[in-house]
Amino acid sequence: HSQTSLSLLNFGQNVIFTAGLTTIMYLTAKDMVAGTATVGDLVLVNGLLFQLSVPLNFIGGIYREVQQAFVDMDAMFGLRDTKPALKDSPNAVEYNPAKDGTAIEFDEVEFAYSISPKDSKSKSKESNTSVATTTKRPILRGTTFTVPQGKTFAIVGTSGCGKSTILRLLYRFYAPDNGTMRIGGKDISTYTTDSLRRAMAVVPQDVVLFNDTIGYNIHYGNLDASWDEVVEAAKKSHLHDTIQRLPNGYDTLVGERGLKLSGGEKQRVSLARAILKKSPILLCDEPTSSLDSHTELEIMNNLKEIGKDTTCIIIAHRLSTIQDCDEIVVMGRGRVIEQGTHDELMRKGGRYKELVAFQRSQTEYSPGEQEPINI
Ligand code: ATP
Repeated sequence: HSQTSLSLLNFGQNVIFTAGLTTIMYLTAKDMVAGTATVGDLVLVNGLLFQLSVPLNFIGGIYREVQQAFVDMDAMFGLRDTKPALKDSPNAVEYNPAKDGTAIEFDEVEFAYSISPKDSKSKSKESNTSVATTTKRPILRGTTFTVPQGKTFAIVGTSGCGKSTILRLLYRFYAPDNGTMRIGGKDISTYTTDSLRRAMAVVPQDVVLFNDTIGYNIHYGNLDASWDEVVEAAKKSHLHDTIQRLPNGYDTLVGERGLKLSGGEKQRVSLARAILKKSPILLCDEPTSSLDSHTELEIMNNLKEIGKDTTCIIIAHRLSTIQDCDEIVVMGRGRVIEQGTHDELMRKGGRYKELVAFQRSQTEYSPGEQEPINI
């Protein structure tokens, strides 16, 4: 609409201007022929009309900007009017990690995603005529585990078994249908969402970056941190050297949603952000899945260092990265099917041992069969 009305405005302006110019030139030329006007008068009239047209074009520009501002304001108010799915209870209190503690408990947590009819693309006759109802897709079916304060806890399991859902529930994107999630011994719904989120740093599976400099994107993790701390966080996430090699260093623009960075670089920006936030609870969803084995190992060592005073939950598919974790949980069909340290689970010889054996067989190098590739 904005573009159409602007085009109409420009068209109208040009019609008026051209018609005006033609008429006034004609009238002045007539006066010249009659001897009542000079050539100077003709130039004066022409110049005056051009002078008038400049502010007229200016009005067009302003009109366009005002229209655009209305469109943006509409989007902004629409966003502000969005009601959050979860509201804090009126009695919710501020979460204070130092006082309340950071141990995390899942007690028989059940959760199902709601699939509303508009999520379905089915165009069949039956679906058009049947009464549209929201269906539930159960993901967690009584998940129970405890992460003691200051410990590093790993969750492993097949793709789609609900590992990321656990982090989403902890971050209060959703509330469980049944069961209780506790932090510091208290149900997390008794805390304000804002104070809970402030105490958690998340390294998500899909990293969202702003179309700004790489330095700003790291700094975003904690805008109160000093520049030295930003550089320190970049070093801990093994990003500093990569940034140094970029033409504009920390001032390099990352592009829309970070498309100018590789998957591994984006992941390290996200790690650096989480490190900078210095939260007492760290949630990592496959934080090193796009990295080479060497960088992955070094980052995991750094995470271990950072995780000393932090309660940390790491989701990982490459089991070699989580062997040193204090506790490992194996998820299957929405429940915890095994739990223990790496050694305990290996001794037990269950699903975890199977997964480890399978991954080892995939990565093992047999001399003579294949030469290692030097990159
Ligand atoms: P992966 O290891 O592949 O990341 P995951 O164990 O982390 O998998 P989740 O992301 O927790 O898996 O998703 C569990 C299941 O829930 C998946 O089958 C997924 O399709 C479904 N799911 C995830 N988010 C939604 C949503 N918003 N609405 C409906 N279903 C969802």
